Amino acid sequence: MLTEEYVKRVYAQVERRDGDQLEFLQAVREVFESLEPVVAKHPEYERNGVLERFVEPERVVKFRVAWTDDEGRVQVNRGYRVQFNSAIGPYKGGLRFHPTVNESVIKFLGFEQILKNSLTGLPMGGGKGGSDFDPKGRSDGEVMRFCQAFMTELQRHIGQFTDVPAGDINVGAREIGYLFGQYKRIRDEYSGVLTGKGLEFGGSLARTEATGYGLCYYTQEALRVLRNDSFQGKTVVVSGSGNVAIFAIEKAQRLGAKVVTCSDSNGYVYDPKGIDLDVVKDIKLGHRGRIKEYAERVPGSEYHEGCRDVWTVPCDIALPCATQNEIDGESARTLVDNGCTVVCEGANMPSTPEAIAVYQGAKLLYGPAKAANAGGVAVSGLEMSQNSYRLSWTFDEVDAKLKQIMEDIVANSLDAAKEYGREGDLMLGANAAGFVKVANAMVAQGIF
Ligand code: GLU
Repeated sequence: MLTEEYVKRVYAQVERRDGDQLEFLQAVREVFESLEPVVAKHPEYERNGVLERFVEPERVVKFRVAWTDDEGRVQVNRGYRVQFNSAIGPYKGGLRFHPTVNESVIKFLGFEQILKNSLTGLPMGGGKGGSDFDPKGRSDGEVMRFCQAFMTELQRHIGQFTDVPAGDINVGAREIGYLFGQYKRIRDEYSGVLTGKGLEFGGSLARTEATGYGLCYYTQEALRVLRNDSFQGKTVVVSGSGNVAIFAIEKAQRLGAKVVTCSDSNGYVYDPKGIDLDVVKDIKLGHRGRIKEYAERVPGSEYHEGCRDVWTVPCDIALPCATQNEIDGESARTLVDNGCTVVCEGANMPSTPEAIAVYQGAKLLYGPAKAANAGGVAVSGLEMSQNSYRLSWTFDEVDAKLKQIMEDIVANSLDAAKEYGREGDLMLGANAAGFVKVANAMVAQGIF
């Protein structure tokens, strides 16, 4: 329920303007609900039109991507880059290649990214991009030609001091390599214009692990501070089997938890002995296979069709690491009924508003995506620093900085939650802490 007059008025304006962009509206509404006590305490935000400006991207770029498939047919996809907010640094955020990508999805991701990047404490603004290109079943040559065509247009809009893209769903080391190569060829410039690069050409150690590891550092710290507890001895359900899920499983296991599931868009595997991560890595990173193969290879494990049913598996801690809105109200109720008391989000906006209401009603420890999964972009920020310095830090140096950043996010979120009257609320705290820094910068820099 939006009550504060100013928040309500701006939300109504977003609804009028972007009423058909459902994911974007969902993300704005969730943030606005947290911001009521914040704008009440900061009248200068209304005087400076901060909320109105905050929900309107500084720039939305939409472009044609034409490429030739292996049969010699011309294919056309749509590319996007949303440069949402540059108040605290150059636009920063990933690229997603997936058939579900549209302007609403990229805008919700870009909007979340503003607050997430602010929470890392590093100087990065918010942006996001991608395409409705589906790499599933495409050859390496096709992916390369697509990436080259995509960058041929994108390059005019980005740069190491203006906008620094990275990966997201289906954009990993291979794609970043092709994108970087094309940027370098066209611009004749060797710079840190992308993050998530290969280690040979300016990438950072621990970037691959960062989102999953960061998620576990965040969860571990929140458990410690709020419940004097830890991962030790806990049963964990993880969804997804991409980069985020794999390294969340790895770190949760190292912290003493038993992870019993992972999934892909077709179904999930349940392994009561605990997921054998080497097998998952071999399937997913080794030959881009389907997770079904796990059950064929590991005796005693089970494969179930339908990825959403992963939430019916009883657990203490759930780490959604697949995609947006993967936990609806019903799945959330099932999790709670089966004894789950912690949900921390590795994916972006994996919980529907109904699911979040269930978490709040059941007093779960709920770590929202923009805080819990900020480790990925945090290490991207550290990659930018290393590129600027022309040096590379060791794995342990980067990992230690990542851990500190995630612990600081928990502390800053809890401080903000207390300041705005909702002690212990990690969601309100993340939204408020992330927002205030950006809002103050927007006020200081004048109206534009
Ligand atoms: N796509 C990641 C995210 O959602 C990382 C972005 C980046 O490293 O710039 O935060």
